[in-house]
Amino acid sequence: MLKQRINVKFVERLKRLYLIVALVVVVSLLFVKYGYSMVFMERASGLIKQKNNNEQKITYKKPSRIVKSQNETIQKISFVKNSTNISDSTSVPFVDPVVEPRFIRKVEALLVEKNGDPNSTSKNGYSVQSIIDASSKYPLLYAKSTPVIENQNRIVYLTFDDGPSPVTVDVLEVLKSRGIKATFFVVGNQVELYPDILKRIADDGHAIGIHTNTHIYEEVYASLDSFLADYEQCFKKIKVVTDYPITVTRYPGGSNNIFNKEIREQTREELKRRGFSYFDWNVSSGDSAPKGITSEQFVNNVIRGVRGKNVAVILTHDAMGRTVTAESIGTVIDEITKMGYQFGVLGNNIETLQF
Ligand SMILES: [Zn+2]
Repeated sequence: MLKQRINVKFVERLKRLYLIVALVVVVSLLFVKYGYSMVFMERASGLIKQKNNNEQKITYKKPSRIVKSQNETIQKISFVKNSTNISDSTSVPFVDPVVEPRFIRKVEALLVEKNGDPNSTSKNGYSVQSIIDASSKYPLLYAKSTPVIENQNRIVYLTFDDGPSPVTVDVLEVLKSRGIKATFFVVGNQVELYPDILKRIADDGHAIGIHTNTHIYEEVYASLDSFLADYEQCFKKIKVVTDYPITVTRYPGGSNNIFNKEIREQTREELKRRGFSYFDWNVSSGDSAPKGITSEQFVNNVIRGVRGKNVAVILTHDAMGRTVTAESIGTVIDEITKMGYQFGVLGNNIETLQF
């Protein structure tokens, strides 16, 4: 009795299963025969039918927009391919260097690669390959180039290295009270500590340049790559705080120090290629002396240094503990103004002053 009931139940379930399967099969067949074209009928205007191996195949192309973007992709791919096989510059399409300097530089590097021997060395003794490597890295590191103008007569550029720091605030007050603009070569790690002070430097209308990210000579000058990596860190940190267009640099320790001896020329050329200028100084305030200096010494060092010069780039520091700089800078500005000098800010549009 029980066995019979189970059998009946089983047969009923089986029947239901058959029905479902049959229904699915019928619907699928109908869909394949009619439904497919019906479902896609609305898209039919955008479909291009192509004959392929005597069978009609439907390809999913929208004639206007999609085809255009495909052509663009094809152009890009073929250009990249072409550029590695470039034989003359006429096959390089025009790209606005302001919009995409990285692209232009890459093409330039590839041209160098093609036309020069990659194993050869440049006049400064480094390989074409290193130019290519350097140009493909650090894509943010470009400065907008501007025409260089001659320095006007009797001009002074006040520069402050190693900030921002709490001392910078006092320096900014003095500069504001005299209506003077200066150039601040900042340290990335300090920017991280005092972003609000960097912002104030920018808001007050002063120029901002890159000094270094860490200021650790052994690391910064270990190789061209470590120099650029450090440089990029500082560049990025400044960019997070302000959109000031950075175009100038001051090497930690000056452009001609014992730490950068091996990579000096490489870094100089690489900075130049990327549009940055670097500035050394011809007047030192002496405020970085390990034992420190008095305010009187500071003023005397600067005034003595400026006297007789047509163009003076003055080195001072606005780092923690260098309060003498903030205390003395007002007197220095007043004296220099009396001597008939104007004050200016540095940029890559200014004739550089290098050791
Ligand atoms: Zn420094």
